[in-house]
Amino acid sequence: MHNFEYREPDTLEEVLALLGELGEEAKIVAGGTALVIMLNQRLLVPSHLISLRKLRDIDQIESSDGTLQLGALATLRAVETSPLVKEQSPVLAETYAQVATLRLRNMATVGGSLAHADPNQDPPVTLMALDARVGLASANGSREVALDEFFIDYYETVVRPDELVTRVMVPRAAPHTGSAYLKFLPRTSEDYATVGVAARVSLEPDSGVCQDCRLVLGGVGATPLRARDAEDLLKGQKSTPELLEAVGAAARQLTDPVGDSRGSAQYKRAMTGVFVGRAIDQAWERALA
Ligand SMILES: Cc1cc2nc3c(=O)[nH]c(=O)nc-3n(C[C@H](O)[C@H](O)[C@H](O)COP(=O)(O)OP(=O)(O)OC[C@H]3O[C@@H](n4cnc5c(N)ncnc54)[C@H](O)[C@@H]3O)c2cc1C
Repeated sequence: MHNFEYREPDTLEEVLALLGELGEEAKIVAGGTALVIMLNQRLLVPSHLISLRKLRDIDQIESSDGTLQLGALATLRAVETSPLVKEQSPVLAETYAQVATLRLRNMATVGGSLAHADPNQDPPVTLMALDARVGLASANGSREVALDEFFIDYYETVVRPDELVTRVMVPRAAPHTGSAYLKFLPRTSEDYATVGVAARVSLEPDSGVCQDCRLVLGGVGATPLRARDAEDLLKGQKSTPELLEAVGAAARQLTDPVGDSRGSAQYKRAMTGVFVGRAIDQAWERALA
């Protein structure tokens, strides 16, 4: 590993001041689970590392006016086990529970798992289907970005070098809404997904037709992919095997997977169609419950 200066500020203000001063020279360390690997491989060679270890208050999980707020330093395990998350957004707890191993989930953080922007990750897929927003702060102020607009490319987001991810906001779902996240893992339960699909379906209670939906795909493109054409096919319709086949085909069209040890590009594309159908089925069932 190359030489760098390690800083451990006590407050959020100090972190933001350092980021403002050092810009691209510095890298944030949260859980360190991805960053340390990238440093070891010399994919990153920052002159400064800024640890968030001493910060308090941005690891809280709270609810305000029905919106769930996940602090950037909350661990994945804290989200997975939070009674508040299980009550307000069970699919979120289920998604975080599917990340890698318990050891990893005890270290990795909500903010790190967004800022890292590996398209194979699980939480961004479900968070995007839930219309989550990301809170960003710098020494010059703060802003919010819809997760839909957060990812740019492989390992690239809209977060500027002087900004910190501070929290994620997840709005409460409308009544008669069901959500599901399915992770296809043909190798081991601890692997990244071959494909991950999040579906959210809101039903019109009297007619039982789909009023609104979100469909997001992970692991099959440079970023999590929102399958808008597929969503449009579902809206105003009742679920039938033929419709799910058509929705799966529309979602497959959007994918641009890279073949690797988790499957060839063709296989990942085919499995996307299958898992889209299954995720919609599960979300639909939950919306009826
Ligand atoms: C073997 C292995 C298997 C894994 N499997 C999965 C999996 O199946 N599914 C899955 O979803 N994830 C998986 N992960 C986890 C994932 O790839 C990342 O390691 C993890 O989400 C990063 O979180 P962290 O808090 O450790 O971030 P760090 O490693 O500390 O940081 C990662 C990046 O984000 C930046 N960063 C961190 N926090 C902030 C912040 N608050 N604001 C701005 N920038 C920030 C850092 O500067 C760095 O660039 C796996 C990781 C490993 C090592």
